[in-house]
Amino acid sequence: MKINVLTLFPDMFTPLKTSMLGRGLEDGKWALNLVNFRDFTTDVHHHVDDTPYGGGAGMVLQIMPIKKALDSLPSKGKVIITAPQGRTFNEQVAQEWAKEDELTFICGHYEGFDQRIYDLADETVSIGDYVLTGGELPTMSMIDATVRLLPGILGNSASAVEESFSHGLLEYPQYTRPADFEGQKVPDVLISGNHQKIAEWRHKEALRATYLHRPDMLEARELSAEEVKMLNEIKAEEAEK
Ligand code: SAM
Repeated sequence: MKINVLTLFPDMFTPLKTSMLGRGLEDGKWALNLVNFRDFTTDVHHHVDDTPYGGGAGMVLQIMPIKKALDSLPSKGKVIITAPQGRTFNEQVAQEWAKEDELTFICGHYEGFDQRIYDLADETVSIGDYVLTGGELPTMSMIDATVRLLPGILGNSASAVEESFSHGLLEYPQYTRPADFEGQKVPDVLISGNHQKIAEWRHKEALRATYLHRPDMLEARELSAEEVKMLNEIKAEEAEK
């Protein structure tokens, strides 16, 4: 996958070049093309923004440098604008995007974009109902969530399959050594070696975590008969606590 990012602050993207994503870049599993759209200005002061028509606070990004930067790309794939008004990014969006060959993100700054810039994009995406100073952190989060789903990026490819949100449930609790930490013991089933029982326990505990922390996710999910039974047990167990 190739990812283009139009930004005024390409230096901010260093975190994507470290750890597993960084290794993936080095191995050519994905490519990152950072484009500073200030390089596409024609005035002597390299302005990318101007005051809003009609007055008001802040500066608005102009269309011309962004349009020229986009036109300079040999190919763009899906073009995504980062903005609080967009559809909210989540794991399902990451899964959709991970199937694309190429993505292009446009990072805003200051007061945001001239309205006509939105017409240059295929979609507008937000990372949540809060406002950041720029689109760089949202873009990095979305790139990380998407690229880690590509083949060969994570050490153990199964880990992305079982994670929170990937199948409409939060992840089950995880434990590692020691088996007993100051009296807090790892559940017996996990050291039993019985893989069927471990899978059942994990399934039930994923349901419990979702019931306790994100019940809205259960409402949106069609539960199997087995899950309905497990959920009734969980409700009874939790009521007894
Ligand atoms: N005036 C805009 C508004 O009220 O919606 C906010 C502009 S914000 C200060 C500057 C830039 O940061 C935006 O153009 C966008 O690229 C990015 N940004 C801020 N919050 C975001 C969010 N929740 N999701 C995605 N991008 C965001």
